[in-house]
Amino acid sequence: MSSQSTLTSLVQHALGRLHGPSMPEPSCAVSRLGRWCGRLSPPRLVILSGEHVTPGIRARIAQTFGCPVTALYTLAESGIAGHECDGTDTYHVDEASAFLEVVGDGGLPLPAGVPGDIAVTPLANYAMPLIRYVPGDKGIWVDGPCGCGRSGPRLRLLAARSERVVVTGPNGRDLRMIDLAKLCRQLDLGVTRVVREGDEVVLEHRDERPASNVQRTVVTAAVRSLLGADLTVRTRLVAGGPSAAMTHTAPAAVERPGVPALPTSEEIATWARKVLVGERDVRAAVLTGSALDPASVSRFSDIDMTVVVVGDPYSEYWRSQATAMNRNIATLRVNVTQAEAVARTPLVACRLLSERHLVVGSLEQAGVVWPTMEALAAEGRFWAQTAENILWTRLTSADRTRTDPLRDAWLASRFGLDALRYKFLCEGIRVTSARSVLGLATESGVPHATGIGHAFAVGREHQPPPMAGTPEADRFLLDALSCVRWLWDFL
Ligand SMILES: [Zn+2]
Repeated sequence: MSSQSTLTSLVQHALGRLHGPSMPEPSCAVSRLGRWCGRLSPPRLVILSGEHVTPGIRARIAQTFGCPVTALYTLAESGIAGHECDGTDTYHVDEASAFLEVVGDGGLPLPAGVPGDIAVTPLANYAMPLIRYVPGDKGIWVDGPCGCGRSGPRLRLLAARSERVVVTGPNGRDLRMIDLAKLCRQLDLGVTRVVREGDEVVLEHRDERPASNVQRTVVTAAVRSLLGADLTVRTRLVAGGPSAAMTHTAPAAVERPGVPALPTSEEIATWARKVLVGERDVRAAVLTGSALDPASVSRFSDIDMTVVVVGDPYSEYWRSQATAMNRNIATLRVNVTQAEAVARTPLVACRLLSERHLVVGSLEQAGVVWPTMEALAAEGRFWAQTAENILWTRLTSADRTRTDPLRDAWLASRFGLDALRYKFLCEGIRVTSARSVLGLATESGVPHATGIGHAFAVGREHQPPPMAGTPEADRFLLDALSCVRWLWDFL
């Protein structure tokens, strides 16, 4: 790395820090940067971008680096919207990349000399068209020609950006209007009001129909990733038809909508039968997966459809068929396979034969048979090795406070459950469904069965997750590891 690029990244880093959530004393950060840069060749120019910096900090930066400082008016949504004119504290608008307005409360454009909100219409961002986007900056048009000789509109920025916050999470982080607007646009969801009530965030939307599984899953994951994993996010269709207006109000009493409804296994089977009927190569198709158990439905629920075919399951035909089917139901995963391949994966064969919800054909006639104990034990040993590795790596990750306890719980429940499955199957007990395996483990006093049960409840979001980096979060992984160890002892 050249000294110039080192310097660039140092400056970017330090200025990023100035505006980050854990903002240090600005002049302190600049001094620290200056000490670093003393070891490198001095810069010729420092360009500030991203946020409006006060004249005091700018003077300090210029003094520290001994070079001129200039600024760009930039937005993530449009790129560079203006260039600062040296020494005038005004910006020349980059008319090729953005159309800028200064608007009043009613959205009407204001003349020069009247302060208002800056509205930006990016002209070069084709990927995400925005019209009259108000990023939260205040500005004022400056009349008359500029001393530098450049023509075109000139703007003075009046205040640092104040992000318009829709809702604040328990972790103190904000969901900004722009985040929500982008999300809703991508998902085609007409959210009109966001209400936070305790640990629950309700997104009220006006659309033709209730949010689909995909919309719900994505919007929930996105909002939780911004505001914190402890939150429950729900969507609620409100009467009144589609609307483009979005408002946010103080928390109000809201009824608790139920757990998002997934299609029932019978609905999926009926639909899949119509799709697969007349397919000559299909010997059998069955549904398995946690979504088939109504008591355990969560946003992690999945449905597997295994289609046993003769011929090449990876052919272009089956690839496109599987893709088309997956597209129809958010949580569906269509596996196309051959009977011989199922025979090579004993646990899958057991699960197909014992948990199956038949769609078409017959597994036995397709050639899927119950595996031998030897085959199960051999696969179990290989599986246990991998499981131990994954759980251990997770448990000993460099910074456990940065891992997601909900995901720990979910991982622990999957691995713990499979360890129990292998153990019971190798003992000749033919149970594989999550509910019966956990029930049997608890009844028969399997160590850590209760812990895995708890991991399941948390992983399914039926119970709140612990804080990241706490012993409770580690407990999930430790319990799963113990289950794997316990299986090892048997194998
Ligand atoms: Zn100028």
